[in-house]
Amino acid sequence: MLDASAHIVIAGAGQAGGRAAEALRARGFQGAITILGEESHPPYERPQLSKDMLAAADTPITYIKRAQDWSDVLNVRLETNSPVTDCDADRRTVTTGDGRVFTFDRLLIATGTRPRRLERLEGRGPQVQYLRNVEDALRFRKSIRARSRIVIVGGGVIGLEAACAAAKHGCRTTVIESEPRLLARALPSLVSDIVAARHRSHGVEFIFGTTVTDATPGGVRLGNGAEIPADLLLIGIGVEPVATVAERLGLPVTAGIAVDTCGRTAAPDVFCAGDAALQWSRCHGRDIRVETWANAQNQAIAVAGNMLGEQKDYVDPPWFWTDQYDLNIQVAGDMLDSDHIVRGEPSSGRFSVIAMRGADLVGALSVNAAKDMAMLRRLLAANRHPARADLESPAFDLRAALK
Ligand code: NDP
Repeated sequence: MLDASAHIVIAGAGQAGGRAAEALRARGFQGAITILGEESHPPYERPQLSKDMLAAADTPITYIKRAQDWSDVLNVRLETNSPVTDCDADRRTVTTGDGRVFTFDRLLIATGTRPRRLERLEGRGPQVQYLRNVEDALRFRKSIRARSRIVIVGGGVIGLEAACAAAKHGCRTTVIESEPRLLARALPSLVSDIVAARHRSHGVEFIFGTTVTDATPGGVRLGNGAEIPADLLLIGIGVEPVATVAERLGLPVTAGIAVDTCGRTAAPDVFCAGDAALQWSRCHGRDIRVETWANAQNQAIAVAGNMLGEQKDYVDPPWFWTDQYDLNIQVAGDMLDSDHIVRGEPSSGRFSVIAMRGADLVGALSVNAAKDMAMLRRLLAANRHPARADLESPAFDLRAALK
């Protein structure tokens, strides 16, 4: 355990940064903790941005805790509007945009990700928006009015949850997805098709296999030459890690900031957790960035313990959910490059899909079947691999495989 004279600095005041600070105190750390965040808000969770906050205009922002509780209850110094812009590995200092210097004994990089942009479309035609922070959500919510024409670029989770909100508010909504189907990285085509059909039944249109190449005064031009009228463009084409701190420390940044299973980077006493961390995934068989609510929370909590000297591996299988109309879809592990076993009847609207690679259980997906998913997540986490024949049998009780 670090003693009470130590100073832990957390770069990033999102969910991972906030949960790490809480976990440090919960484990009894009595030294100083400083969180440095770029946004003007105390830490909040992001699922609300594409869900509750888009549902109604006056939905309040839910924070992890009230601003004053960080200081009054947890004795954490929270500095908002204070992005870390520089870092010195030898002196063990970080510098914020306004020139303040903080010395650290341990540093947690929890700077997350930022949206990939399509700058060629900005300022040339319809307004271009992204959806990553509270201000983005408030702006988009204001823009979605009945009969406005919205083009959404990207048929991933942001694009589709935004399309739900736009359709519910009566917008004419078109989603442009460069892949031939929706959520192609996360879902098997059976489920992509169900999601697309549900959106179409709410009036959303899709154009696959192309992208927006240009903005026109009244809309956009696509790669196939077609022009689509639009009042607003929402871009949801994925994210990239915010890696300034890692780069200043001389750490290699590839798809993300590489960490070991304890969250350690290659720099002494520097850790990383959340969306920006490039971490080992047993289900995928490679290092990946895990851009999920569950990872931002649970990896941060585990890494906080490791910053204090614990040696606990964090190897939870990735898990996320998305709510679209009456569909609750949950995905755990890796659904790609695998054989699929369908449990339940898709036409009933409630079923699961299990992903096997050889004899290994590597992924699971549920549609309105949260109880199945709870079992399947436990199997994945426990590294259990039930026999394929058992999983294929409708009579097989998943709980039996956990015993
Ligand atoms: P995603 O990666 O989920 O989806 C982006 C989609 O856009 C992909 O299908 C991608 O295809 C496609 N795409 C990429 N470039 C283009 C292009 N130029 N034109 C058209 N389509 C394109 O990212 P999102 O932006 O949807 O989400 C951002 C982050 O927010 C993610 O980290 C996500 O996990 C998180 N999030 C999570 C939610 C949840 O868990 N429910 C909800 C909302 C956001 P390709 O794969 O080929 O690049």
